[in-house]
Amino acid sequence: MPNAHPDHPNILLFNHPLIQHKLTVMRDRATSHRPFRALLEQIAGLMVYEVTRTFPSLEVDVESPMERTRGTRVDRSITVCPVLRAGLAMADGVLDMIPDARVGHIGLFRDEKTLKPVTYLSKLPNDLHTGPVILVDPMLATGGSAAAAATMLKDAGALDIRMICLVAAPEGAALMHDAHPDVPIYTAALDRQLNEKGYILPGLGDAGDRLYGTA
Ligand code: URA
Repeated sequence: MPNAHPDHPNILLFNHPLIQHKLTVMRDRATSHRPFRALLEQIAGLMVYEVTRTFPSLEVDVESPMERTRGTRVDRSITVCPVLRAGLAMADGVLDMIPDARVGHIGLFRDEKTLKPVTYLSKLPNDLHTGPVILVDPMLATGGSAAAAATMLKDAGALDIRMICLVAAPEGAALMHDAHPDVPIYTAALDRQLNEKGYILPGLGDAGDRLYGTA
């Protein structure tokens, strides 16, 4: 189970040894894009197990080869929404666990001068209100992109949003709590701070570049 953070009520921290091990390998500057991408997918898959714990399920009849019995199915349509481009690899990890989930794409880039998010893509299902939405972006830095993405999801009807990231900064956690206190944030680490360019310290560098080998 992830632990609630004492200073950030919206943050749920995964102290699981496997997740922490994989995160440590990802932080290592010597880890290249291929293992980096695989590790991010694996961590997202492990996190999904807890993020979905309270998803509503429905009792159903099922015909086994032996006899009819009762079982359960997840009740609502689930949507995973990656923030491009770094969110894509995490979304793949989520989809490994929930292959039927729909995918809504959110394209935001950070203006390097203002550090504010600029939207260049929004392709979302039009009935987001019908089920839980998992917002995925590995780095919660200033929180500007995550807050903008959560606003876009709410404007599109989402009522139940949960965010998965890999590394969060206290600044981003605080901004998200101010803007969207109803959105829990599941993360493997809450790091120390942002630097003057908005990168997380100690962090792991630019997640998109490290995922796709574009550094
Ligand atoms: N985005 C990243 O990829 N890394 C950071 O440290 C901050 C934002």
